[in-house]
Amino acid sequence: MSISDVLSEYSRIRAKNETELERRVQQVYDAVPELKKIDEQKNALQLKRISQALDGKPIDTSDILALREKKNMLMIGAGFDSKYLDPIYSCNMCRDTGSLDNSLRCECFKKRVLEDKLDAAKLTDTDVSFELFDLNVFDDSPLESGKSQRETMQRIKQITSKYADAYPHCEPILLLSGSTGLGKTFVAKCVMRRVIERGYTAAFYTAYRLFSMFHSHRLGEEVDLDPVFTVPMLIIDDVGTEPMTRNVTVEYFFDLINERTAAGLHTAIVTNLAFHDIKDRYGDRIHSRLMDKSTAIKIIFSGDDIRY
Ligand SMILES: [Zn+2]
Repeated sequence: MSISDVLSEYSRIRAKNETELERRVQQVYDAVPELKKIDEQKNALQLKRISQALDGKPIDTSDILALREKKNMLMIGAGFDSKYLDPIYSCNMCRDTGSLDNSLRCECFKKRVLEDKLDAAKLTDTDVSFELFDLNVFDDSPLESGKSQRETMQRIKQITSKYADAYPHCEPILLLSGSTGLGKTFVAKCVMRRVIERGYTAAFYTAYRLFSMFHSHRLGEEVDLDPVFTVPMLIIDDVGTEPMTRNVTVEYFFDLINERTAAGLHTAIVTNLAFHDIKDRYGDRIHSRLMDKSTAIKIIFSGDDIRY
C-alpha cells in the first residue's frame, strides 16, 4: 500500500463519519422538530455576522450563543448528549487527516502504515508456520558432528518456537546464521507468524530493501523510517547481501539495532555470514552487539543444503 492509499483511507473514514453525523442530525430533527428551525436561524445569523465582519463592522454573537444554548437545552431535554451533533472524528489528534497542525504525521498514520505492512506479511507465506515445519525433509543420517541434520533442525525448531512463544519476554536479538538452503528464512518466518498470531506486530524486510531505504534517506529523500525503528518485531532477511555504502550501511545498521534494543524492541537477523564475517563486514560495534549473550540468542544452521 502506498502513502496515497493510506491517505485515501482517511477520506473514506471522513466520509463515513460525515454520513453518521447526517444520520444523527436527522434523528435529532425527527425527535425535536423545533431544533431544525433553531439551526436554520443560527446558520442565517452566522452568515450575516460573517458578511458584517468582512465589511469591517463590529460583530455581536450573543444572539447566536443564545440560540446555541437553547439548542443544548432542547437536546438534553429530549435525552441527547449535548455533544451528540459535534463533528465525529475517529482520531481526535488529526481529525482524520493523518497530519497534525504542525504538519507532522499523526501517530494513527504511522500505525496505519505499520498495520498495512503487517497485513502484507500475513497474506504471503500462508504455508509457513511451526505447525507446517516438517522435520522429515531433513536427512537423519549422522554428519561429522555426530548429529544428523534432522536432529539439528529439531533443536532449532524447539529453541525458536520457544522464543516466539516467550515473546516479548525473550532476548531482543535473534541471530540466525548459516549457509544458504538450510531453512533460516523459513524459521524466521515461522517465528514472525507465531508472534503475529499471538497478537503482536511484526514486519519482514530483506536487507536489500531495508538498506536501500537507508540509502535514500541518507540522500535526503523522503523515506519514512519510523516503521522499521518502531515495529515491535522486525525480521531482516539476507543480511550481508546488501551493497555496502560508505557512511550508510554500518552507521544505519548500528543505529537501528542500538535504538531498537534500547527501546525494548526485538530484531531477528538472518544471515549467510559466519560470525567472524559479521565482524569483518560491519565492524566491532555491531559484532559485539550481536554476540552479546545478555541481549542476543544465536543459532547456527549447519549441514547440507535442503530445498524448500
Ligand atoms: Zn490521527
